Amino acid sequence: MKLEASTLFKQEQIDLLIARGLNLVRFPKGLETIYKNLYRNGAALEFRYRAPIILGLYLYLCIGTYQILPTEIRSEWIMFYGWVGLIIFFAWFLSFIPTMNKWFEHYVCLGSVGSVALTFTLINVLEQGQNNVLFHAAMMYAIVIIYGFVGMRFYTAVIAGWCGGLIGIIVTTWLNISIDWTFLNRTYTFSSFLGMALAYAIDRQHRENYLQNCMIELNRIELKHQTEQLSILSNHDPLTGLANRRYLDKVLENEWNRSIIHQTSITIMMVDIDCFKQYNDTLGHLHGDDCLKQIANILNSVPSKNNDLVARYGGEEFLLLFTLTNEDQALIKAKYLMERIHEIGIIHPQSSISKYLTVSVGVATIIPNLNNSLSEFIAHADHALYIAKSNGKNQFHLSTSYKESHQVL
Ligand code: GH3
Ligand code: MG
Ligand code: MG
Repeated sequence: MKLEASTLFKQEQIDLLIARGLNLVRFPKGLETIYKNLYRNGAALEFRYRAPIILGLYLYLCIGTYQILPTEIRSEWIMFYGWVGLIIFFAWFLSFIPTMNKWFEHYVCLGSVGSVALTFTLINVLEQGQNNVLFHAAMMYAIVIIYGFVGMRFYTAVIAGWCGGLIGIIVTTWLNISIDWTFLNRTYTFSSFLGMALAYAIDRQHRENYLQNCMIELNRIELKHQTEQLSILSNHDPLTGLANRRYLDKVLENEWNRSIIHQTSITIMMVDIDCFKQYNDTLGHLHGDDCLKQIANILNSVPSKNNDLVARYGGEEFLLLFTLTNEDQALIKAKYLMERIHEIGIIHPQSSISKYLTVSVGVATIIPNLNNSLSEFIAHADHALYIAKSNGKNQFHLSTSYKESHQVL
């Protein structure tokens, strides 16, 4: 699960929040908003499963109470009591509508206020001073459920529990019915405090879990980042950003085997900068580095297929791998890359070949079979490069093992 807070807060800040103990069951403003959004969806989802349990328990209590009621008040009682059941049922229905999730706390809070107010009033209206234990048990049950099982955050649950009671008092007084506070304090007030303690512990635990999950997520992100960095470092050349020799060896081996299986052509080009030592000696190593980067960029723009690869093979040598590329296509690419290097015109003051920097290219192409070896194939490209150099540099040469071809730009 992607936790938004993990991208907003650093590990130390989350550590601090956990260390502070979450005594106020409230996060700093930004985090509270994020948490609230996440919590609403989770709580609405949980309520889908909790509501039937609440309804079942409610029904059980309902049947128990109904059996001991005097016949004359049964219908009146059902009328009141049925409303609470309907409220739960309606909230359950709303929890299945995803767009209503953002209102979850509002509708369960309203429903809870209504339920507490109804049960509170019902007790006073029906028992008329008889202090029927079952009525009170029903109310205590409703209150504890509201605080601990509906899934409201602590402060919302407190509002729901006490406002419900307050409305109950107002309605009862308005109906001119006396309230037995001694008994109600032992039931309503007691269960409200019990429920508050429950809601507090649940909310606090929920928040702590959330922070712990954020920590896990942060560690996961950090680990992923480090793994990516490590993979980049171990597979790429830090100066040019091209694949390094290690990565090249892996890819070459795979593509070589694939070409054997599918009997497709594969091409490699060994590219070496001409007179690069003089370039360094005249313009300095830092300029030399810049030059390597420019050449690397150009070479990197030549491949056209996903499995093609450009790697830094050694100091100022590069190896280009072209899959599904035959001799004719290879020669077009070799010509193209040399033209591109000419086009950018890197001045080389001490070159014996040209006033611009040039490269020599050794090309080898093959449709390999099990009698061929990859190292031999690379050696052919290397040899072709050697011939290009011997023939005066600034040219490409196709490996003699397959077909002789050579051209000077
Ligand atoms: P040739 O035309 O025969 O290839 O001659 P060359 O001077 O290019 O070849 P040589 O092998 O004599 O020299 C290669 C030079 O490449 C030597 C070294 O200073 C330079 N070089 C190798 N790696 C780097 C690097 O990372 N940065 C810089 N600036 N220079 C490098
Ligand atoms: Mg060179
Ligand atoms: Mg060299």
